[in-house]
Amino acid sequence: MSRNAQAQFDVVVIGAGAAGMMCAATAGQRGRRVLLVDHYPKLGEKIRISGGGRCNFTNLHASPANFLSRNPHFCRSALARYTPRHFIALVERHRIAYHEKTLGQLFCDDSARQVIDMLRAECDAGGVEWRMPCEVRGVAREGAAFRVDTAAGPVACASLVVATGGLTVPKIGASPFGYRLAEQFGLAVVPPKPALVPLSLDPESFARYGDLSGVSLDAEVSCRGARFRESLLFTHRGLSGPAILQASSYWQDGPPADSLHVNLLPGIDACAWVAEHRRAKALPATLLAERLPKRFAQAWCEAHGLERPMAELSDKALDEAARALADWPVHPSGTLGYNKAEVTLGGVDTRGLSSKTMESTAVPGLFFVGEVVDVTGHLGGFNFQWAWSSGHAAGEAA
Ligand SMILES: Cc1cc2nc3c(=O)[nH]c(=O)nc-3n(C[C@H](O)[C@H](O)[C@H](O)COP(=O)(O)OP(=O)(O)OC[C@H]3O[C@@H](n4cnc5c(N)ncnc54)[C@H](O)[C@@H]3O)c2cc1C
Repeated sequence: MSRNAQAQFDVVVIGAGAAGMMCAATAGQRGRRVLLVDHYPKLGEKIRISGGGRCNFTNLHASPANFLSRNPHFCRSALARYTPRHFIALVERHRIAYHEKTLGQLFCDDSARQVIDMLRAECDAGGVEWRMPCEVRGVAREGAAFRVDTAAGPVACASLVVATGGLTVPKIGASPFGYRLAEQFGLAVVPPKPALVPLSLDPESFARYGDLSGVSLDAEVSCRGARFRESLLFTHRGLSGPAILQASSYWQDGPPADSLHVNLLPGIDACAWVAEHRRAKALPATLLAERLPKRFAQAWCEAHGLERPMAELSDKALDEAARALADWPVHPSGTLGYNKAEVTLGGVDTRGLSSKTMESTAVPGLFFVGEVVDVTGHLGGFNFQWAWSSGHAAGEAA
């Protein structure tokens, strides 16, 4: 195709995930001529597998405090202008039934596919055109416009929106494309790493607890000052469950690697609990089994040398037990990586972007939205809310 014959669009969006579709629909419904390009054959695959197939599409309590970024204030403007209420109104307009599961987390009653269908319909309402599956081979600046070389031929556009997500779950289309493109245009990238990810434990250092896989308990897990009270799950490789996934976003590999601090009696004063039971004839494991899974209570007490009735334990042993119950240090050896992570921490450095529009401050017309940006949500619907809010902000401006 000659350069003169290349298709012209106002906006090209690369990446038809949550943020890309929201951005394309918003721009299209403003009357912009929009092309959406994605290299993966199936539309919205990450949405489809999200929330156990029911898509935890937002969180009623979303606020900037639920996001990690080198600039924690960056997400404020977009989140304030497109809020969970806006997305809920869209979901209701499409008659998708939903429910609050816990802690403000909203899920589809039926299937995550409804969210994909809804976004597809919103794109159709904006007259969005598609190239999918279609590889993007390169991007170049041509005057004030961009030339995007795709496997189906070149296209020209005034605004280019990069919505290619992070590195999680490479087998369903994740790629470092967005980071490379940012670097090509001189934007900095905060080094990416897996987040909301199970953590592995060194088998030798954990051998004294025996096989705890499948055991789940209510705990408060802290790391680097962040604190999460949710469930903690032992797996055959280490630790998972919401409390661990949340803490994993703060955990830093060494040397020396961070420890996690686990409060096994959340909401209770461990010293007061020990004092209350210090004259009991029962074994500590028996008493703890009233609050913790029996298998765990037994293994934990054995590993801490608490194998005699409470009344027979020394003051020192009781003090140490109280301390360990309130702050059990656990030493992860690593994460299970991008195949098991829900999101990617880091990404395009927000210092190079406008927080109102997501546009590069140095390269007019170039936008980055969604997970490719250095804004990462806690577990619980926050990452989709960021995709909707940032996609909408760019869709209003592109
Ligand atoms: C198992 C799992 C469950 C999750 N559950 C939830 C949940 O319930 N709630 C929640 O809030 N968050 C959840 N998340 C996180 C959430 O899915 C992501 O944060 C969100 O999808 C990010 O949206 P995005 O549009 O930025 O990126 P993505 O949804 O990842 O979309 C990026 C798109 O870009 C395309 N792409 C990538 N590279 C290229 C390239 N080179 N050329 C062309 N196209 C390209 C990809 O094919 C993809 O379609 C979950 C994640 C996982 C992995």
